[in-house]
Amino acid sequence: MARIRTIKPEFFTSEDIVSISPLARLLYIATWCEADKEGRLAWKPRTLKMRYLPSDNCNVDDLCAELTSSGLVVLYGDGLAHIPGFAKHQHVNPRESKSVLPEPTTHVDRKPSHIPRDIRDDIMARDEGRCVRCGSDDHPQLDHILPQSCGGPHVVENLRVLCRSCNAGRPVSGKGLDDDLAKDGLSLKNLRVKFGVDASNLDLHAQVGREGKGREGNSDASRQDGFEEFWEAYPSKKAKPAALKAFKTAKINGNLPLVLAHIGVMASSEGWTKNGGQFVPMPATYLNQRRWEDDAAPNPVSERKWI
Ligand SMILES: [Zn+2]
Repeated sequence: MARIRTIKPEFFTSEDIVSISPLARLLYIATWCEADKEGRLAWKPRTLKMRYLPSDNCNVDDLCAELTSSGLVVLYGDGLAHIPGFAKHQHVNPRESKSVLPEPTTHVDRKPSHIPRDIRDDIMARDEGRCVRCGSDDHPQLDHILPQSCGGPHVVENLRVLCRSCNAGRPVSGKGLDDDLAKDGLSLKNLRVKFGVDASNLDLHAQVGREGKGREGNSDASRQDGFEEFWEAYPSKKAKPAALKAFKTAKINGNLPLVLAHIGVMASSEGWTKNGGQFVPMPATYLNQRRWEDDAAPNPVSERKWI
């Protein structure tokens, strides 16, 4: 089901819209097309760049920062985003597929989880592999500015490189955290607003302790929760037993929403729809190669004009 989105004349004169750059306005419109019927999407700036601004010479991270800092897009959960004004402005076709992404207000990570490799690589490259606080390159580590235990998401805007000693010394809760954030001109309150984290949902410090603990020891090779959801969403239904085996091996767990979102994007892409879906990878291949960690394929630039 193709997505159709509505744009109203007052969009162009709304105060929050005119205060962002023209390309950020265009990217904002693009997020409506990327979002599902509830206004939720996987937040992948590079994919947005390739799909919606394919030939523009621009820094997509800066454009994304305009959208998030203005509150037009709110980040949440594990690399997800939602568009607060979506339901108010859009009249979505009732036949459009229902959202497979969790509700923003109820979705809270219960334990630290894996940072997608492409995001990890982006951060290391951006910060040149050095601690952004002291410049040391001693054991550079990815740090969540708003800690995961406070609901801080795995998104570019919330990640940075710190050296081992700067990272180890960071408080993860309470006044200590607020004082620590103040060193960078930030505050817990503002970060919670920025990332759409509802403080009333969060009292996780006792459960997860210091960020980083609990990364090991939680895997369960027999876990297959979510496989049926994957199978239903995936456009090719070949070799289900092999797919189940690959699903277990891939240990998708908390990444299931991202996987489903990626499948949703790819299912309507040219690559997966041409020749009757002949080029959709086998489900087991998709899982074994962790294809959801790739950027979605770019849309080709159309030669047809808008008017
Ligand atoms: Zn340091």
